[in-house]
Amino acid sequence: MQYPILTQKRLPWQVDAWQKLLSSTNRSLNDLFSHVSVNESDRIAMTEADSVFNTRLPTRLLEQIDKNDLNDPLLRQFLPDPRELMDQHDFDMDPLNEKASQPKPGLLHKYSGRVLLVMTSVCAVHCRYCFRRHFPYTDNRLSSDEWEEICRYIAQDETIEEVILSGGDPLSLKTEVLQRRLEPILSLPHIKRLRIHSRFPVIIPERIDEKLLEWLTGISQEIILVVHVNHPVEVGDSFKTAMDALREKGVHLLNQSVLLKGVNDSVDTLALLSRQLFECGVLPYYLHLLDKVKGAAHFDLSSERAHSLYQALLARLPGYLVPKMVREIAGERSKTVAL
Ligand SMILES: *Cc1c(COP(=O)(O)O)cnc(C)c1O
Ligand code: SF4
Repeated sequence: MQYPILTQKRLPWQVDAWQKLLSSTNRSLNDLFSHVSVNESDRIAMTEADSVFNTRLPTRLLEQIDKNDLNDPLLRQFLPDPRELMDQHDFDMDPLNEKASQPKPGLLHKYSGRVLLVMTSVCAVHCRYCFRRHFPYTDNRLSSDEWEEICRYIAQDETIEEVILSGGDPLSLKTEVLQRRLEPILSLPHIKRLRIHSRFPVIIPERIDEKLLEWLTGISQEIILVVHVNHPVEVGDSFKTAMDALREKGVHLLNQSVLLKGVNDSVDTLALLSRQLFECGVLPYYLHLLDKVKGAAHFDLSSERAHSLYQALLARLPGYLVPKMVREIAGERSKTVAL
C-alpha cells in the first residue's frame, strides 16, 4: 500500500510581495469616488471626514465592492461617512483613556500578566470605527532609546507572561524589524506567549509569507495570532491558504470582530462568519461592542439589539463557535463580558 508523501506546502506568493501591495495599491478618496456613485454633497462631507482620518483601502478590496451599493458590508467599514461629522454626544476622542495606562511611550500595561505594544501607526486598511482613529501615533513613534526602555520595563516585571503586538498593525513592519526588535524580549524566561493582532491576513494575506513563517518557527514561545474579520465576505481562498500555513506551524488562530450596525448586525451573518472561520482553523474569540469613539456613532447598536442578537447566536451555534461578547470599560481590569 502506498501512502501519500507529506511535502512541505509552499505558499503561492513570493516572499516580501506584500510590501509592494501595501505601499503602491492604496487608493485615495478621489479614486474611490470614481469607483462608487456618491452625490456631490455627500462627497464634500466625506472629504471632510477623510481629513480627520484618511481613507486607506487596497485596490484589490475596492474591486470586490459592488459599485452601486453604498451598503456593501466591505465598503461601509472603510468609506468615510457624512455622519462622522455630526455632533456625537457621549462619543469621545480617547474612549478607553489609554493615556492612563501607558507607563512608557508605546507600551500599554492595563491587564495582569500581559502588555500591549503599539508597534507602528501603519495599517493595511483604515476602518472607520477604529477606536484608535484619534490616537496620537506621532507621540508613539518609537526611537531606539524608547524601545530599549520598553524592553527594560518588560525585563524587570516577571509577572508579564505575554507580549501583545498591536498598533496600527504590527505586521506592517518588515519581518526583519519585528525579529530585531523582539529578540531581547523573547529571550526573557518569564515571557511565555507572543500574541499578534493583525488585519493583514484578510486584507493582504501575502503578508503571511515564508520569511514570516520561518521567523515564527524559530520562536520558542507559544504564538497566538488574532485576526480581525467582521464579515463572511472577508474570508477568501487566500485567507484560508495563509491560515493553513500558520496552523501547520502550530500558531493558535483566533478572531475578533466588532459588532457594527449595517455591516454584521444579523444573526445569519454572524453565524456564517463563525462557521467559515472555523473551516479555516480560526476560533471566534471576541465580539466587541463598539468603543464610543468620536466619528463612529453611526455603527452603534442599542444594548437591547446587541443582547438579542447574541442570544440568537447562542441558540444557533455550538458553544465554541460563539465569540465572547465584550465591551471595554476604561479603568476595568479586563474586557467586560456584556451579557
Ligand atoms: C484588549 C487588551 C489586551 C488583551 O486582553 P485579552 O482579554 O487578553 O485579549 C491587553 N492589553 C490592552 C491594553 C488591551 O486593550
Ligand atoms: S486595522 Fe485595526 S488598528 Fe488599523 S484602522 Fe483597522 S481597526 Fe484600527
